[in-house]
Amino acid sequence: MAERKKLILVVIDGLTPEVFEDAVETGSAPALSFLAANGSYRRGISTFPSLTPVCLSSIATGAHPDVHEIPHLVWYHRGERRVVEYGSSFAAIRAAGARRSILDAIFNMNEQHLGAGAVTVYEALEDAGLTAAAVNVTCYRGRTRHLPLLPGLARPAYGPKRFFFYNLFESDVTGAPVSVFGRSTGSIDAYAGFVGRWLVTRDGFDFLVYYLPDYDFASHALGPQETQEALARSDAAIGALVEAAGGPDEFLERYAVVLCADHGQTPVDRAVALEAFYTDVEGVVVTASNRAGMVYRLPSCKEDASELARRLDGSPASKVVLYREGEEAVARRDGEELWFAPADDGWATSGDAAVLDQPDALERAWTALANPNAGELLVSPPLGVELTDLAGRSHLGGGSHGSLEAGDSEVPILTVGIEAEPNRIVDLAPLALAHFGVEPPSYARRLPDAA
Ligand SMILES: [Zn+2]
Repeated sequence: MAERKKLILVVIDGLTPEVFEDAVETGSAPALSFLAANGSYRRGISTFPSLTPVCLSSIATGAHPDVHEIPHLVWYHRGERRVVEYGSSFAAIRAAGARRSILDAIFNMNEQHLGAGAVTVYEALEDAGLTAAAVNVTCYRGRTRHLPLLPGLARPAYGPKRFFFYNLFESDVTGAPVSVFGRSTGSIDAYAGFVGRWLVTRDGFDFLVYYLPDYDFASHALGPQETQEALARSDAAIGALVEAAGGPDEFLERYAVVLCADHGQTPVDRAVALEAFYTDVEGVVVTASNRAGMVYRLPSCKEDASELARRLDGSPASKVVLYREGEEAVARRDGEELWFAPADDGWATSGDAAVLDQPDALERAWTALANPNAGELLVSPPLGVELTDLAGRSHLGGGSHGSLEAGDSEVPILTVGIEAEPNRIVDLAPLALAHFGVEPPSYARRLPDAA
């Protein structure tokens, strides 16, 4: 039997299928074109809310939020009675308390918030004796203790054996330059490129998650159609891996590749404050940013979930609002309702099916509501609308994501040297495990093999 190839999972944050397909067709991104010419491509679906901490946790664990328990960029921690803010904007980080936000984003998300029942792909592979590597990915939980490189910060993080995180954690000395300045000109992807080149040159892993966030940053600022320059930089970071392997043929000889995005992006032409609909009701915490919002009901609240949901009838903040009612879930859209729950052979539904017509909407809505850290209400706004964050900030005139809508939820998925047809981001971790002959966690769906 031929030796099993090593596997690289490339995640380009916020890359839409349209932009990917156009770049491959026109040849404007040479590394992506090269991979596409040697692979098989399809559009896939993200999770909900389609926001990076939620999506990267789904990619790394193969679970929706009901299992991995990361609910949003910003959420209310019932046990600690406080808002957790991973970084909606610099102003929102300041509003939530900068030190606390930074600790939440860097340490607590993996150490405390990520569900104990979820298994990361790094944990599963390293338990099977393989070496995993992660570059800059926010879901990194592993079994190897790493100390931060910042003087005065002594708290360790537990990641895979090869662990690189924005110069803060580096399992190996690579000489990569400091990355955190010059964000808008692609400095983080340049850092990833440096580390990636080092890892490939030394053949330093069996499985690598190579996360490139700068594209999303540009797409938020400029809008999802004005990102050619940012895509060229992401492409160069992928090209660095090919070059380090000794060229295209050598690269394909050594590596299988899965390339995807975590979510899409859609243009923003209106910013709405979700909390404005709850100012006169006691015992409610609203957390919102980008294109998803949550409403938490505290014990002192006198309105039930359906009353809180009705407040959004006809509101520009909400296309669909979701909540649980006993054993069922309710999706409400301008007074129309769809009731749904999982059944033996799919979904049991009653009401107006048109209320939830977005891709994989029943599965994504149900699993988002089943997250113990989620609000009682989940709000998915219409296209064009962004919900302002803790500090009132938005990406008005740029791009955003987070909703159930197709534009926020569809992602490109390209597989190279792998026989499978993954069409959801939660399929990717089980696919990586199957590639190495490692049993996927019991919550993962078995993938049908490609014909
Ligand atoms: Zn984003």
